Amino acid sequence: MLRRLQVAGLPVHVQKLGEGVVRVWVGDHISSTATVAFATQKGILVVDTTGNPLVDRELRRVIARELGRDDFTMLVNTHEHADHTGGNAVYADCEIVGHELVAAGMAAGRADRPRVLEWYATGIPESEARLAALPADDPSLPSLREDLALDRLNRDVLLSDAPLAPPTRTFTDRLTLDMGDTSLELYYTGGMHTASDIAVFVPRHGILMTGDTMSDRWLTDTPGCLASFIARPGVRHDFPRLLKNWEYLAQQKDRIRLLLTGHWNGELSYDGFAARVGYVRALWDGVPAEIARGASLESLFVTFALDARFPELAQSPGFNRNNHAMTLLELWSVTTGQTSAADRLYALIDEGAGEDAVREVVASRGATPASYFFMEGQLNSSGYRFLQAGRAPQAVAMFRAYADLYPESWNAHDSLGEALLATGDSAGSIAMYEKSLELNPENVNGREVLARIRSEGTASAP
Ligand SMILES: [Zn+2]
Repeated sequence: MLRRLQVAGLPVHVQKLGEGVVRVWVGDHISSTATVAFATQKGILVVDTTGNPLVDRELRRVIARELGRDDFTMLVNTHEHADHTGGNAVYADCEIVGHELVAAGMAAGRADRPRVLEWYATGIPESEARLAALPADDPSLPSLREDLALDRLNRDVLLSDAPLAPPTRTFTDRLTLDMGDTSLELYYTGGMHTASDIAVFVPRHGILMTGDTMSDRWLTDTPGCLASFIARPGVRHDFPRLLKNWEYLAQQKDRIRLLLTGHWNGELSYDGFAARVGYVRALWDGVPAEIARGASLESLFVTFALDARFPELAQSPGFNRNNHAMTLLELWSVTTGQTSAADRLYALIDEGAGEDAVREVVASRGATPASYFFMEGQLNSSGYRFLQAGRAPQAVAMFRAYADLYPESWNAHDSLGEALLATGDSAGSIAMYEKSLELNPENVNGREVLARIRSEGTASAP
């Protein structure tokens, strides 16, 4: 009888992808990292670890058994994320290869350790309680159990605080690894996921690995890292270089048999890959051209509307209005040198900067050259971030800046009214809801809230 191998309660999967090529991962439901191993003349080369040394030690044994040898010589990281590099130490006897920005990304991830541990400290007991409360035949049980097993593994890794094992050999743009009968071509593709993404092309097997940068089909409803295709503020990118490498790889269509993403539950077709390359190319060329023609930020959103301009991507994994908007804003920022006023205001208020600093950003609107771009939606959601975190005074400061910037916006005054009410300032809140209703008599919700505050005010009056 076949005994299914398990690690920490998670089933181990082995998939043969060709002669001397295996893909291994754990779990049936969770979006765990897929490790791919190639048997070559110069030893076994492994792409990515799962992030849990416990799991990676076991997977290393599975790989050796499957390939019938154990001469591991090289490990390649597709990017910096802990769920791809956290098990690197298991391959400390090998050369570890990655982009030159992997080490910095790993260190930044580790710096987040206290916050993540705090999250596990409440999240894990909550999951345990939720699991215990479910009937034994609940269909969501298997997936929740795996989530919990993975969370526990990740927490234990963080608690152990083992030293990081960053790449020992790095590169900037391209690198070919000569493994005798097999060569691996590594290409920088950073910018749409992390700063340190690379693609790994193995012509001998017709395999192209794209890490976590993209996927156009999800096998489970937990896509994890693969869920967003975004250029983010704060993530370093070099789009000319990214496009040069992606477009070169797209031209290798006839040599690509199989595209592999960084997680087992995300698949990628050649067409999905090419469409994403085309999307970044269209924006990288198109946005600066539109701006040179005098386009405003608002008109960019019309010109590059996701549904109209990229209909084949609008419904595809990784794309939605939000992700697309973030990418457009980042390209606007790169082209104009302007940064988000909402982000700046949020940071100032968050760190307790005085009113003057806030007023300075508000007053800079309309100045040339402009340092900031202003987006109503961002200002509003930044205020709600404070409000949802229970920081009503900060929310008031944020919404006040929003209302100062958009004095004709009923929504700004409605939001400010809500935040003032949360601070206990009923009179101030009433004034803002009245203003909002004056600007938009159709604001039904505002009318209801206003009536409620007034009646409560009367009720509690002595
Ligand atoms: Zn990732």
